[in-house]
Parts: sequence; structure tokens; C-alpha cells
Amino acid sequence: MITLKEALSKTPEAIQTLRDEIMAAAQASELNAYIGFEQSGDGIPILLKDNIQVKDWSVTSGSKILQGYIAPYDATVVKNLRAAGFAPFGRANMDEFAMGSTTESSYYGVTRNPRDPQCVPGGSSGGSAAAVAAGIAIAALGSDTGGSIRQPAAYCGVVGFKPTYGRVSRYGLGAYASSLDQIGPITQNVEDAAILYDAIKGHDPKDSTSAEFEKEPIFGHIDPTRKLTIAVIDNYIDEADSAIQDAFARTVETLEAAGHTIIHREMTNTKYDIATYYILATAEAATNLARYDGVRYGRRAEGVTSTEELFFKTRSEGFGEEVKRRILLGNFVLSSGYYDAYYLKAQKVRHLIRDEYNAIFEEADLILSPVAPSVAPKIGELADPLEMYKSDMYTLGTNLVGLPALSLPVADDPETGMPIGLQLIAKAFDEKTLFDGALGLEQAVNYTTTGAH
Ligand code: GLN
Repeated sequence: MITLKEALSKTPEAIQTLRDEIMAAAQASELNAYIGFEQSGDGIPILLKDNIQVKDWSVTSGSKILQGYIAPYDATVVKNLRAAGFAPFGRANMDEFAMGSTTESSYYGVTRNPRDPQCVPGGSSGGSAAAVAAGIAIAALGSDTGGSIRQPAAYCGVVGFKPTYGRVSRYGLGAYASSLDQIGPITQNVEDAAILYDAIKGHDPKDSTSAEFEKEPIFGHIDPTRKLTIAVIDNYIDEADSAIQDAFARTVETLEAAGHTIIHREMTNTKYDIATYYILATAEAATNLARYDGVRYGRRAEGVTSTEELFFKTRSEGFGEEVKRRILLGNFVLSSGYYDAYYLKAQKVRHLIRDEYNAIFEEADLILSPVAPSVAPKIGELADPLEMYKSDMYTLGTNLVGLPALSLPVADDPETGMPIGLQLIAKAFDEKTLFDGALGLEQAVNYTTTGAH
């Protein structure tokens, strides 16, 4: 598949031919990466996660409850894409309402990992990552609330970038946890991520948490030769599988050989990331998902005789098991009597986690970290929800603090042949440094799959 950068220099006719070829390949694919094959407008086709609104498209967030819902407007990212010469193309599969790490909770069936169809592609943006890795999309957008762009990118061997919270408008994104959600690119390489990020970012008065900033392009200004100070958090690397630890150690050597300064630090609050995240994210989700009651959006239960029964039946039939679990958890932590002990406490811990990141960034330009403690698991392997939540340990912290982070493949696991991704994390709003470091690392690692599977 040609890269996004290469696509920029093609004629409109060549792009049209390419779109037709990609559509045919996507429809023939058995990966189940696409939920729908809608196209709208001319331009370089960009695959969208199925929680991003495109006017007149069916948009489901991977849920049964939104079956039949037609989006009445374009998300701001879609408007921005169109303005930059890109066109929304297809709807990528995802975990229901972006809750999950495997894409198994989608009502529309699991997506398979193109590197091994027995394995999950990660999640929740599993369809986006699988499609880019399989060459049935040039590039895609995903959303990342606790790792959902970076982790599937790592599991599939492609690049995933979560911008600083506030850089990209959430207007028209199906809300999961509003203080954590951020849209970002999943691409074949670091430069393509910069191209797509430049296109979608920008202040938006329609998103009250959108940051005000000058839109300076990153693409064309990345300096991969810049020497940086990169922090390694020693005390939490041990929790990853040995293949991840080995790839991590080799990457640290590569960075040192490239002239970067590596500093070793510890973080004590990272052990609270999972608990803090799963309290705050479920609390926000319970509130955001209250709107799906059969009255305004999507499916409506039949044969009911009261409003209460309408709500009850619509929600019981429409939501999957994981979503129900999270609504229950979220309402529990917000309920009177438990609010102080859980929700309020988690907000306080979130501040402590932020303070610790800030202290590291007093000394370092970037942090290097694993993305996940293992390579992509087999379909069905993470059936226990707690095991699944634990696999998010390396990605949640950056969402809690709002930091930008980019995941890129560095090696294949010699045993399974599955790709291993690592992430670089930068200070809030310092995407420039993040891309300088990421492009330098991509060039130094020069990852090509060993294909050992
Ligand atoms: N796996 C995490 C969760 O289930 C993150 C999902 C996401 O980033 N949308 O909440």
C-alpha cells in the first residue's frame, strides 16, 4: 500500500483508481476490519473508527443500540479532513463504545489481526489498526481514551498517535469518557501520522475543552537528528513479558547509539493508574451513555407500555455485557455514600499522577515506555475483564494526565512473530519534540517485519 505522503502527490484520477482498488480489497478481506463501506466525497480516502460522525452515514460505535442511527452532521475532524483534501472512507470496527482492548466487544464481530488471524488486533480501535496493517486502508483515525489508538497499533505493527488532550476536537466523537477521549491517527509510519494530525488538529469552539493554539504544521518540520534526553521508568518495565523487556532494552541501546541521553527514573504512582482510570472512565461513561434510552438515538424496544419499560428494555437489549458492567461500575462510584471514597479520591490521585509526570519532564524531553505488557493475545484469551484491564497498565497514565504519546513498532517477538510496539511520551502540547524523537527512532530501528509466523 502506498503511504499517505506518497498519496499526496498523486493525481485525482490516480486517487480515484486507488480508492476503487482499496474498496474492492476491503470488501474481499476476511479480517472484519470494516463495519461499513460508506464513502463520501473525493480525495485521499481515510478510514474512520465507527464512533466518528459523518453526515448521513450510519454510525454505531460498535453497538447494537445504535444500529440504524444516521449521523445528522459531520464531526469537526471530518470537516477538517475534507478541508485538507481527504475524504472519509469506510467505518472501522471497534469495541462497543470504545470499551475494551481487543475489539471482541463489538456487536459486529471480532476483527482479526492481519499478522495472525488467531490473534486479536487490540482495541478499541482494532479495525483501524488491522486495516492499515493489512493494506486495506492508507491511513485511519481512531480514538484513545486509555490506549485505544496506541495499543492496537502496537499489536498490528503500525504507528498510532494520541495527541495532547485538547488538540483535536471531540465534537462529533461518540463520547466514552470525556475528560480522557482524544482522536488521533493510525498510520503506516511516523511522517504519515504527522500529516494526518496536522489535518485534524485545531481549536474548535464546539468543544469546550479544545485548546486555543496557532496551527503550525509538524509535517515538513520534523528533525530526526535532534539529540534528546529520554527517561526510562525502571520500576515498571519488569511487569512486561520478557520479549517486551528485550525489545525495550535493545531500543534503549539504539537510542543511546543515536546520541540521545538516557536517564533512569522511578515513578511510584503508576501502580494506581488502572484503579484511577477505571473509576473515572466508568463514572464518565455511565453519564455519557445515559442518553441511549430509545427516545432519541438508534434502536427502540418494541411492545412496551410505559416510559420506564422503554428505557429498561431498550438498554437491556441494546448494550453488550462489557458496556453494562461499566455503566454499573460508574453509577456505583458516583452514588451517594461512595462518591467521596471512589470518584473524588480518584480525582485526587489523578493529580498526584500528573505531578509525577511533571517532575520527570523537568529533566527529560521524552519518556520511553512499553505500550502493552505482551504481544497481541489470542482471540478469547482475555475473557476475564480484570485481566483485560491489567493489560492497559502502560497506556492509561498518559490519558489521565492528557499527554501526547506515539506508539511505533520496534521488533517482532522471536517466538510468535507478532509485532512489539513501544511508545514515546512528551510534555503536554510538545508534539514537535515527540515527532522529532519518534522519526529519529523509526529511522534508527528501521523496523521491517521478520514475518516469522
Ligand atoms: N482498554 C481501555 C478501556 O477499555 C481503553 C479504551 C480506549 O482507549 N477507548 O477503557
